[in-house]
Amino acid sequence: MICHNCGGSLEKLVTNLPFKVGYDCIVIIKALPVLQCQNCNEYVIEDAVMEKVDDILSNIDRTTELEVLSYAV
Ligand SMILES: [Zn+2]
Repeated sequence: MICHNCGGSLEKLVTNLPFKVGYDCIVIIKALPVLQCQNCNEYVIEDAVMEKVDDILSNIDRTTELEVLSYAV
């Protein structure tokens, strides 16, 4: 895959990313596999991974301010 931002090459890596799911609720997902551009650091989340993230986010308690979860279940 190629970076949509600069055309550089994307490399697979595993990282921790925060997702804002409500006004005052942030979920940090650890060990998330993403593709990151070696040139500009833009990252892309693959569709299959994003689907699972949506799944994880739909199941969390939105009244908590900060939740830390692991992608790998
Ligand atoms: Zn790039």
